[in-house]
Amino acid sequence: MMAYKQVALIGLGLIASSVSHAIRRAGLPIRVSGHARTQKSREEARRLGLGDIFDTAAEAVAGADLVILCVPVGAMEGVAKEIAAHLKPGATITDVGSVKKAVVGAVAPYMPGHVHFIPGHPIAGTEHSGPASGFASLFDNRWWLLTPDRQTDPAALSNLEEFLLALGAKVDKMEAEHHDLVLAVTSHVPHLIAYTMVGVADDLSRVTETEVVNYSAAGFRDFTRIAASDPTMWRDVFLNNKTATLEILGRFTEELFALQRAIRTGDGDQLFDYFTHTRAIRRGIIEAGQDTAQPDFGRIVTRN
Ligand code: NAP
Repeated sequence: MMAYKQVALIGLGLIASSVSHAIRRAGLPIRVSGHARTQKSREEARRLGLGDIFDTAAEAVAGADLVILCVPVGAMEGVAKEIAAHLKPGATITDVGSVKKAVVGAVAPYMPGHVHFIPGHPIAGTEHSGPASGFASLFDNRWWLLTPDRQTDPAALSNLEEFLLALGAKVDKMEAEHHDLVLAVTSHVPHLIAYTMVGVADDLSRVTETEVVNYSAAGFRDFTRIAASDPTMWRDVFLNNKTATLEILGRFTEELFALQRAIRTGDGDQLFDYFTHTRAIRRGIIEAGQDTAQPDFGRIVTRN
């Protein structure tokens, strides 16, 4: 028996709309309520049938057993402040922000003592945003990380885990600070590198005109896909995961200099060994079921 009868989604973009579709796909007897900042998004969400959409976040969370904050990291505090007085006693509040320590700092101070705040982050996404970008299978076989602390109520935690499993996700738990370091390595710095590389190519395109676009090889095309991600979301990620991002960027720069030196000195063995090692990491990701070995990352596969 699912513990939640009503789930409120605050923010109605890629992640929230995917949650709504996944709830429906699982056939869960849950009423979905929701709110987005702009009238345009709220109307689109209504047209798409994502749930009962309200003009204010306060109305959307009224009566909800679970509230999921699906807004950019920088908007979490304002939303927490707005909904605090309207939360149902005993409700669980979670979020999907890509950074955890800063979100805990922004949200926890506003949470009343009669609710359970359990921060979270689905390791699933695309470069698309908005209410129409979601799909039911987004979380299938993806990790949904939770960062409970010692005060977290075990029953509330297990109810949330059960719900996330029903959406198709796998659940793991870790400390907020550790989460931010891990994600700086696996997501945040790679995005920064993609943004930089596309910026470099853009500079170059002024020299070579359309060649950069016309002769884009797979590696560069993948960078452009990542660099097309939502600017608000990613600005907020870097502003709120400063320490871990700068730490990993420092290490990245050291490795880059080492490879630069190997190229300059013609040290083919070093390059070959390095690339052999990184290839093994890719195999590990595929074996863990977190990506496909198909050409082009199996991107042609249809969504449902
Ligand atoms: P998105 O598609 O851009 O949607 C963001 C939603 O938040 C929009 O509905 C927006 O409303 C709403 N919003 C923004 N400020 C708001 C406010 N002050 N009050 C109420 N609603 C507000 O974003 P997303 O990709 O779903 O990302 C949402 C969260 O998930 C972010 O914290 C992000 O870090 C995290 N996340 C994203 C991914 C990914 O790959 N995209 C993966 C994992 C986690 P309007 O449309 O009306 O402006």
